[in-house]
Amino acid sequence: MVQPPCQNACPVHQDARGYLAAVATGDFDRAAEIVLETNPLPFVCATICAHPCEEKCRRGQADQPLSIRALKRVAMEQGRPGAVPAPTPSHPEKVAVIGAGPAGLTAGHDLARMGYPVTIFEREAMPGGAMAYFVPLYRLPRELVKRDIEAIRALGVDIQTDKALGRDITLEQLKHQGFRAVVLSLGLPLSRKLRIPGEEGEGVLLALPFLRAVNLEGHRLPPGKKVIVIGGGNVAVDAARSALRAGAKTVIMVCLEAAHEMPASPWEIAEAQEEGIEINCSWGPKEIIRRNGKVAVINCMAVKAVFDEHGRFNPSFYEDRCTLMEGDIIILAIGQAPDIGMLPKLGIPLNDRGQLVFDPQTMATGREGVFACGETVLGPGSAVRAMAHGRRAALAVDAYLRGDKFTFQEPSALGALAPEVVEDIERVERHPLPLSEGGRRITSFELVDLGYSPQVGAREGRRCLNCGNGAELREEKCVACLTCVRVCPYGVPVVRAAGKVDIRVDQCQACGICVSECPAGAIAFRMPGVEDIPRRVRAAMKGGRKETVFFCSYDTVFLQGADTSGMVPVPCLGKIDVRHLLQAAELGAERITLIGCADADCPYQRTLRWAQCRVETANRLLQGAGLGEGVVRLLQLAPQEFAHLSEFLAPSAKEAA
Ligand SMILES: Cc1cc2nc3c(=O)[nH]c(=O)nc-3n(C[C@H](O)[C@H](O)[C@H](O)COP(=O)(O)OP(=O)(O)OC[C@H]3O[C@@H](n4cnc5c(N)ncnc54)[C@H](O)[C@@H]3O)c2cc1C
Ligand code: SF4
Ligand code: SF4
Repeated sequence: MVQPPCQNACPVHQDARGYLAAVATGDFDRAAEIVLETNPLPFVCATICAHPCEEKCRRGQADQPLSIRALKRVAMEQGRPGAVPAPTPSHPEKVAVIGAGPAGLTAGHDLARMGYPVTIFEREAMPGGAMAYFVPLYRLPRELVKRDIEAIRALGVDIQTDKALGRDITLEQLKHQGFRAVVLSLGLPLSRKLRIPGEEGEGVLLALPFLRAVNLEGHRLPPGKKVIVIGGGNVAVDAARSALRAGAKTVIMVCLEAAHEMPASPWEIAEAQEEGIEINCSWGPKEIIRRNGKVAVINCMAVKAVFDEHGRFNPSFYEDRCTLMEGDIIILAIGQAPDIGMLPKLGIPLNDRGQLVFDPQTMATGREGVFACGETVLGPGSAVRAMAHGRRAALAVDAYLRGDKFTFQEPSALGALAPEVVEDIERVERHPLPLSEGGRRITSFELVDLGYSPQVGAREGRRCLNCGNGAELREEKCVACLTCVRVCPYGVPVVRAAGKVDIRVDQCQACGICVSECPAGAIAFRMPGVEDIPRRVRAAMKGGRKETVFFCSYDTVFLQGADTSGMVPVPCLGKIDVRHLLQAAELGAERITLIGCADADCPYQRTLRWAQCRVETANRLLQGAGLGEGVVRLLQLAPQEFAHLSEFLAPSAKEAA
């Protein structure tokens, strides 16, 4: 299946297009349901997902990508999805998952949904892995982690905490208890050290234990401390920002990479700098100099190159170009490692580099019936990548238990937009995310990202180009009249050899104009809510109503609870057909009102002009049939006017008279 680029770039292939459309049309319940279909950690992802989907979003070709992660948060905060029924156990084979981080939780969730009895064994007192212990509270409030985990438990997944493989349980015991397959998802719980002179002793901290102490125990630094964080990744930025909130006087970061090479996400770096953290790029620590046993200075060498000629991480330095940086506390955030030294004793082999023997195709380890997933085998990355790996492990376990060969194929993505189509796309700036103010936020661990309001979320959602979800030619009906070629504002339909029309599904902007204009009815529309307009007109006219109102559903959120019974929402009035208007009249409507957005608010080209043409055509036909003059009217309202819709719908005194 060909997916829109956002969905394809998402490691768990979330239907971003689907939930964005639902948010844009104010249907938050449906949006949350779509998120839940494929995401076992929806609140966590809505808050801290690294959102690789946004990097591939095709709107980035025209202006800026959709703010997809933030819109998932709107969906989860505003939506009240229907309860997901607990799956019926359909397989007797018990599966054990070791480690309750994103990978293990996803494997457990998916196996439970497939009907397997699943137990997750977690060595810590709380499930959640790095999300529960290390991610700072100002980015991820823990009640969100708990909400996601409760929903997984509600599927019937048994999560047992304080149970470590190798300490409290062995594989033999699990086998004895009837577990037929085991999934290892042990993460990377250890911080790496630098191995330079002066490193051992007071004042040098490791990032993960430091973050854990700050998050869980409320650890604070003694007043007046100057902190130096070594590292240029996200964990380093988290350690630096946490140190600031934990009371450091100043915090500087030192990393090997040049600014453009830093592995930390650009938005994390920007937020850290906003908070006053200074970043020193292209320096590598040489030694820590102590005075009276206490950390005083770190001596750093200038970096020649971080990567070698094969692109491998292999830093080289100018040993004679050094600088001294003063500090009282040094936090090492230079990488994480797995804690798997005990595995060989359990009969699970490691290779000669001390890594788990693992086949990335089959997800199998070197021991029969034992599988692995997540960062233990992938190395550091994002939560959603670990989740996707957990999903893949669940599929591998299912194939193993069913005696099937495990195969896995990633779906493909729609290609880029053609430059001439990009040129015609209406530019609409991405809505900036509201953040708490830099100076104030460093005094607390409150969530920095304040999230969109439902109204701003709906506005942002309508920027989505609905890639691959628009017009589709029904070739058998096409009479090659070329109307679609003439009316499409984006030049999507093209004439191929022998006069054949090709509506390029991958380029379509889903404005809907051609669908209504095509005299042969040869164009189908993929986006939900369009093909069933006639059914909704019938429903709206039930009970002998005398007025039909069609309104742009992109403005639903501004209606603020107005009574919309008897009204027909349409995702942009460009999709209204003269036939829909005549149908309403035929069913008894004496007045038909189309409510669209003010011109400047419409993300499409020329849709209101076409809607006006259809109003005029319908009025002409209705007048010709003796059904009255000016039966159909088009109103254009600004968002704030939608809140007072009834005033615009009420017949004027003159009309009533
Ligand atoms: C500080 C920090 C910030 C991060 N921020 C983000 C972010 O903003 N966005 C993002 O997408 N990703 C972020 N990540 C990365 C993300 O947290 C990881 O990619 C993800 O947690 C990896 O999932 P996992 O399940 O493989 O491992 P983990 O989350 O590490 O889970 C492994 C689990 O296995 C348990 N375990 C280990 N050994 C045993 C044993 N012997 N027996 C039983 N249980 C065991 C551990 O206790 C742990 O609970 C961050 C990571 C860190 C450290
Ligand atoms: S414009 Fe919409 S459908 Fe297209 S890639 Fe971006 S989010 Fe996905
Ligand atoms: S739906 Fe709009 S963008 Fe797509 S082909 Fe038809 S007229 Fe062009």
